[in-house]
Amino acid sequence: MAYDRFGRHLHYLRISVTDHCNLRCLYCMPKEMSFHPNPELLQDEELLYLVKLFTTLGFDKIRLTGGEPTLRANFLELVREIGSIPEIKILTMTTNGITLARLAEPLAAAGMKRVNISLDTLDPQKFSRLTRKGRLEDVWQGIIEAERVGMVPIKINAVIVRGYNESDAVDLARLTYEHPWQIRFIEMMPFGGITDVQLNQIVTKAEVQARIESALGSLQIENDGNLDGEAQVYRLAGAKGELGFISSVTAPFCWSCTRARLTADGRLRLCLLREGEVDLLTPLRKGATADELRQLIINGLWEKPWGHKLSEGEIPLNRVMSEIGG
Ligand code: SAM
Ligand code: SF4
Repeated sequence: MAYDRFGRHLHYLRISVTDHCNLRCLYCMPKEMSFHPNPELLQDEELLYLVKLFTTLGFDKIRLTGGEPTLRANFLELVREIGSIPEIKILTMTTNGITLARLAEPLAAAGMKRVNISLDTLDPQKFSRLTRKGRLEDVWQGIIEAERVGMVPIKINAVIVRGYNESDAVDLARLTYEHPWQIRFIEMMPFGGITDVQLNQIVTKAEVQARIESALGSLQIENDGNLDGEAQVYRLAGAKGELGFISSVTAPFCWSCTRARLTADGRLRLCLLREGEVDLLTPLRKGATADELRQLIINGLWEKPWGHKLSEGEIPLNRVMSEIGG
């Protein structure tokens, strides 16, 4: 089992399987984003090899993310391979949902248990403004299909950006009256490249909650106030679904973090919001043994920082979200 020096048990790996994306969400990447050429990214065999090494350290939960994970070549095969590793108890994915209407069924058959789908607004015009490209209808069809094939409970991630979709939080919350989904509001976090938007247009959990409560009534806390993953969970009276708040900026939950991340180019990233990384790809390609790589991982995990330092003005500048894997 892997622990860090603060005694946190680390067993959840988030993997950015590609930094590429078919959208350009303005809170995630700059308009003119340049992506890594494929040879710089982990190849299928390298990725599987590292995942298996992590399982020997007790990692049993994997989330595939990106970039847009479903764009990776051979994605279904990769899911099948990862899903068949006996030590992995939960295999999930975060996706923008654009390709899900087509892929949900084969993904479920390949072993994908659950899916988080990103959707920030129910207004098609605002959706294309926020994503700089996308069609809302594609995502909606993807959500319906994911639910139909049993990738439940459906969790929807929404980022609220001042000047773009503040009022949409209420419409999204209203979905829980009819659908047993968890709609999660994620506070916008700052990374290099697009820090201006992220710092100046953040809408906090307190504001989103106040907007929802003034329109729809007070929220009841669920789960005895315990976090569900990283989300604080609430319910509107009479609703089938739940509301989650992931308040990484105003109420960090670093004490409960069990995560490590593998970037698309094969770096072990110890904290989403800190720059520290351990290069695994270079030693892997230079022929490091399994024991040597495992030791690199153990040492890196041990040094996982306690948490982020946004309140002290420290912003990670070396990468944007899509390269790390949100
Ligand atoms: N492309 C997939 C998607 O959009 O779901 C997976 C990758 S995306 C980086 C993962 C999650 O990170 C999405 O829910 C997205 O909304 C969120 N995200 C991206 N940039 C963010 C930021 N600056 N702050 C907070 N969340 C962000
Ligand atoms: Fe792409 Fe997801 Fe980032 Fe949007 S949030 S640009 S869909 S990686």
